Amino acid sequence: MRLTERVYMVGSGDNGFCLSDHADCNIYLIDGGDELALIDAGVGEGTNCILDNIRLYGFNPDKITTLFLTHIHADHAGGSAGLRYLISGMKVAVAGGAALALRQGDEKAISLDLAKKAGFYAQNYFFQPCPVDIELQDGDQITVGDLTVQAISAPGHSAYDMAYVVQVDQKTSLFSGDIIFHDGKILLQSTWDCDLQKLITSLRRLGEVRVDVLLPGHNLVTLKDGTLQIWKAIEILDHCLIPKSLL
Ligand SMILES: [Zn+2]
Repeated sequence: MRLTERVYMVGSGDNGFCLSDHADCNIYLIDGGDELALIDAGVGEGTNCILDNIRLYGFNPDKITTLFLTHIHADHAGGSAGLRYLISGMKVAVAGGAALALRQGDEKAISLDLAKKAGFYAQNYFFQPCPVDIELQDGDQITVGDLTVQAISAPGHSAYDMAYVVQVDQKTSLFSGDIIFHDGKILLQSTWDCDLQKLITSLRRLGEVRVDVLLPGHNLVTLKDGTLQIWKAIEILDHCLIPKSLL
């Protein structure tokens, strides 16, 4: 699905646009001209479907130079190892604090043990460990063709969330992972890695970015005045309340 001139959605699950595996997060392709980038990898069961969608739009997956992960929950990062194997030369970029757990495929660190018990994933689902090529810190900038992707550390939904800002198509696009969604919703979970106070700090920080296009990890996208969606959440926080959770 083409969202703007140079940004596409190439994967999405039941809590979105049903473009790939039912458990996938929203997966975005950024067209940097000579190079492409992916935001998030999905759960891993729909990898071939995601690659087919990329080809459908006329792109060669081998031109993907970087996979940026917003965080390492299985629905976002489970497909990383498969994509890295299939796309030679593609680097995997993730928040530095999350790198070890991704390399080890540590199911407890990503609360997958609890998510399996809760029935979100099959008991035999296996999170494939994935090498990490780029350990991102807040403010890091990575070039993708003629575009620059800037990482913003925004933990709270999980222990190490990264949002990504890209100036593309004369607009500011924010890939917000599971930090903030359309209509000012957030995603709280009763797992060790979710921290409401950290999330509040992150939301207030993202509220300072003037966002046109808000591209979250699930559900609807916002193609105009994205900042207003973030401000909806902040307005609720300012009334000492907690924004609605997506689930
Ligand atoms: Zn998540």
